[in-house]
This record gives sequence, structure tokens and C-alpha cells, in this order.
Amino acid sequence: MKAGFDYVVVGAGMYGSVFARCIAEAGRRALIVDCRNHIAGNCFSEKIDGVEVHRYGPHIFHTQDADVWAFVNRFAKFNHYRHRGLVRQHNRLYSFPINLMTLHQVWGVSTPLEAQRRLAAVRETTSGDTLESWIVGEIGRELYELFIRGYTTKQWGRDPSELPSSIIKRIPIRLNWDDSYFDDKYQGIPIDGYTRMFENMLDHPNIEVETGVDFFSNREELEAAAPRLVYSGKIDEFFDYRFGELDYRSLRFRTTRLSGDFQGAAIVNYADRNVPYTRVVEHKHFAMRENERTVVTFEYPQPYQPGREPFYPVRDWRSVQIYQRYRRLADEGTAIIGGRLGSYQYFDMHQVIGQAMVAAEREVGQKRQLSRAA
Ligand code: UDP
Repeated sequence: MKAGFDYVVVGAGMYGSVFARCIAEAGRRALIVDCRNHIAGNCFSEKIDGVEVHRYGPHIFHTQDADVWAFVNRFAKFNHYRHRGLVRQHNRLYSFPINLMTLHQVWGVSTPLEAQRRLAAVRETTSGDTLESWIVGEIGRELYELFIRGYTTKQWGRDPSELPSSIIKRIPIRLNWDDSYFDDKYQGIPIDGYTRMFENMLDHPNIEVETGVDFFSNREELEAAAPRLVYSGKIDEFFDYRFGELDYRSLRFRTTRLSGDFQGAAIVNYADRNVPYTRVVEHKHFAMRENERTVVTFEYPQPYQPGREPFYPVRDWRSVQIYQRYRRLADEGTAIIGGRLGSYQYFDMHQVIGQAMVAAEREVGQKRQLSRAA
């Protein structure tokens, strides 16, 4: 029987690891467990043929928050990778997210004014807050059909008219030549990989890590091991699905090892409905240095079912109603439940870090200086 801990933290992904580090620095002891045989959650990366490979899909770090950036920089050195997208449709490649280059490639326009006029002519007047209604109100139907509809339908397994607009609002639309995927001031990829960053974060005398431990098979023992429980897995599973199951989207990855340069960029999106994968990731481009070998991953969205990884919360109306009931229960209980799966939110890494830092600060009664601790 494990004892002497102040917290049992379930999940050694971003939420659990950041929380554990923050409270450890405040003198509290944490046992962190993960059902996988490795730490770092979906950020996990590993070297294959000299290339750092993101096993659970590409993770590009970006944030506006100086505290979050200072925090991660204590555990990893970041390179200057800034993501620029490409989308493939009918064997043609376009710049993405939509910017003046994209509109030049589709319509031949070459100034912001021409682009504005053209967009004003094609924008549809719509009502409702679905992904489809919002985006056709911004870019019209032709661009929607070219770049959004096929990709989104594959990615989420739903028609965009059944999805919330928040999914697409995360991507900028620009009427200039700036083709950056993210607007954030701080961006990059950990030079020695995400896994090393997590190893460094969890390397603290007040933290004990156990991988290959399933919380639900050891629940009684783990709940008894410390006065406080922190949980970053699926919130519906935590509460035994008593209000019903939440909907998630899963992914399947097909990875191949090759020589040379496969596509000349880290990510190419495939918007064509008939191509079964949504994107192809060539991991070595994240490192921004030469490597003779290359590792390429094809990403296939698939329905979630037990035994598969729940990557994305599908926040349709039904699931959000159910989630709110779980959230009320969580707020009334003693466990701290957060992260992408615990909050049932389409969070990026920096948002999860911010959330975990705030939760830890609330616990130990300190403010943001945790990010700057020695
Ligand atoms: N999207 C799209 N076409 C693209 C890329 C993205 O329609 O070429 C839409 C799609 O609905 C996707 C959403 O924008 O789920 C968010 O894209 P992002 O690249 O942020 O997805 P993530 O990297 O989180 O999977």
C-alpha cells in the first residue's frame, strides 16, 4: 500500500504532469500514475531513424501566455519552428489557413482589396452557430467546399452543419500574405522531444511516477493513497457513465520509414472527402535540421469505441448537456478533474498548462510565480 502522498494524480499527460510539478515545488508530494507504459500522454514522442516522432499526432507548441512559455522553457529548449499549413485538394496544393496566397491560388486575386470584394460577393447570410453556417458566412460556399467540408466531415464523422462553430474559429482567415497557422507570440518544438520535457518536469524529489497502472483497476487503493485526487482522464468514465457516454473522436496512425524528403513540409492536409486520411505528417520538418531518413505518418480519423484512444471531444448539443451534469457533480466532489478529457474541451497544450497551473495555485495558495521557481 502506497502512502505518504498529498496527491494521487491520474494521468501523466500535460495536465497531470504540470499539476504534479507545481505542487511538488510547493513542498507537496505526488504519486502520478498512467495506464500507458509511458509518460507524456498524447504529447509522447520517440526517436525513430534519427527523427523525433510524435506518436499520437503532431503537437506544435504555441501560446500568448508569457508565464506558460516561461514554465515549459524550464524543462525544454524550443526551436523556432512556426507552422505554415498546406492543404491538398484534387491533386492541387494550396496555402492554408486561408490567406491572400490561398485566394490568389483559387481566384487569382492579388491585393487585400480585391480579396475583400470577392469575399463580400460570395459570403452567405446565415443564421445559427454551426460550423457550416459560420464559415460560409465568412468565406462563401466555394472555399468551404474546397477546404473545409471534406476535411471536417472526415475529421469529426459528422456533417459540418451538426458541429459547433468553435471548431473552425480556432483557425485564422487573413487577407494578407501571412500564412502562419497560429498568431501566438511564442511558438516552437522541444529540441530534445516532448518526452524529454516531461521527464524533466517529473524529475523532482516530491514526485513518484508509475506507468502501466490503470486507475479503474486500482481505484480503491489509489483513492486511499492520498487525501487529494487529481484526475485527467475521461470525465464520464470517472463517474461510471451514470449520465450516459460522451462522444469522442478517435484516430488511427499509419507510420512509414523512408529515405529523403517525402513532402517538403511537416504537415499536408487532405481536404478531399474521398481520401481516407486527413493529414500526412513528416516529422523531421519539425526539427528544422537535415536527416537522411524520414518518418511519415498518415492520420485516419475513426469512431471512438472502448479500446481506442479518445482524442477529440465531439461537443455537439447532446454531449455538452451530459458533460454539464458531470461537471456539476465534479464541482460538488473532492477530486480535481481537468485536462482535455476531464474538461471535455478541445484544448491545446498551452490551455491545459494554464488550467493545471491555476488548479495547483488554488491548492497551494500561491500565484503565478510557480512558473518561475528554480
Ligand atoms: N479544418 C479544415 N480543413 C483543414 C484544416 C482544418 O476544415 O485543412 C477544420 C477541421 O474542422 C478541423 C478544424 O478546422 O477539425 C481545426 O483544425 P486544426 O488544424 O486546429 O486541428 P487539430 O490540429 O487540432 O486536429
